[in-house]
Amino acid sequence: MEFNSGLQDAFGMARWRSEFSNHDTESRFLAGQLGQTKSQLRSALIFCSFFYLLFSLTDIAVLGSGSDAQTLFWARLAVALTAAASILLIYRQPDSVRVARLAACIVELVGMAVFMLIVSYRPDEIPWHAMSMAIMLAVIYIFIPNRLAYALAIALTATAGFIYLVLKIGNVKPADLVTMSMLLTLANAFGGVAAWRYNRLAREEFRARSNLEAVSVLDHLTGCFNRRYLHEKLLDKEVARAQRYGVCLTVILCDLDHFKLVNDNYGHHGGDAVLSNFAQLLKGMTREHIDSVVRYGGEEFLLILPETDLSGGILLAERLRTTFAATLHAVNHNSSLTASFGVACVDFASFDRAISLYSLIETADEQLYLAKTTGRNRVTFRQVA
Ligand code: GH3
Ligand code: MG
Ligand code: MG
Repeated sequence: MEFNSGLQDAFGMARWRSEFSNHDTESRFLAGQLGQTKSQLRSALIFCSFFYLLFSLTDIAVLGSGSDAQTLFWARLAVALTAAASILLIYRQPDSVRVARLAACIVELVGMAVFMLIVSYRPDEIPWHAMSMAIMLAVIYIFIPNRLAYALAIALTATAGFIYLVLKIGNVKPADLVTMSMLLTLANAFGGVAAWRYNRLAREEFRARSNLEAVSVLDHLTGCFNRRYLHEKLLDKEVARAQRYGVCLTVILCDLDHFKLVNDNYGHHGGDAVLSNFAQLLKGMTREHIDSVVRYGGEEFLLILPETDLSGGILLAERLRTTFAATLHAVNHNSSLTASFGVACVDFASFDRAISLYSLIETADEQLYLAKTTGRNRVTFRQVA
């Protein structure tokens, strides 16, 4: 439940903008999409440039091969060169979402400005221009990846500019003007809705994927990381990092004492509640996003504490031990529940040999066994090196 509401907070969507409301989530989404965005943008710009240049043929057909057609050719070439420069810019700043968006906006603006120039040189074919304009609007909304708000602003400004130009220079019948305006309104409406939907769908897919990833690494009952996460994300990473920076790494293995009796006396459901309480305590008393709490076995939990020395590990284990022993659970009003802790630490400032996280966990396990065999409700520890 808590997990679900957390997800809703992080993945809530701003309805009209079609973006995640949470800035971090939106940034993660955009960063994850960037590779795809760049390749879409690149092919869209090449495609658009090609057709911009190809349509020089229509200039020649209408204006002949005189200076007007040549001027328009240079203007069309300017669009293609802007697209090429934008692609270069994206290559030079490959990790920037902003640059990709800037490139899209610049090419769209230059493209629309040149289109207005073409319209002003060829005022006798306004209905054809209106059709081209409708297609270009679809390209701005759907084909060229950009932020919805930017695409909307550019498309609406271009539409207003086109209508203004038509009113100023075109000799258009009022009926044609109405039809053209309707056509462009339709193009904007459909384009805008399609872009809005596409943006939403991409984010919903990201939300579903993130949700699945979280579910696949978290233990359902306690919300702690599971062993898959330990194997895939922590095992090599934590030791390598501690080794690289020459710092300490401490692990604590903890196990509830006589937990079988809890199940026997209060049922599995009561046992589950105690496990869940214990896990919340572990998560609450460790550092978020730094320490990792893993459900290692049924009622056995592993804490991985980067940059923590042995005394820090012992202190934490003692605080966990005393707090848990003092906790009243729904199932035990008269007696206290306790846990035992085995702590192991390696200090890479003085230890230069290879060691795996597994062997550190093994040492913590030996210490846990010692705590169990010497009375339980205890913390025992060992510095590996
Ligand atoms: P010790 O002090 O030596 O650790 O004794 P213990 O009874 O805690 O240890 P033992 O390994 O004998 O029993 C562990 C029990 O934990 C047995 C198992 O049924 C129970 N258990 C494991 N996973 C779960 C779970 O998810 N929910 C509940 N309710 N019980 C669980
Ligand atoms: Mg136990
Ligand atoms: Mg056990």
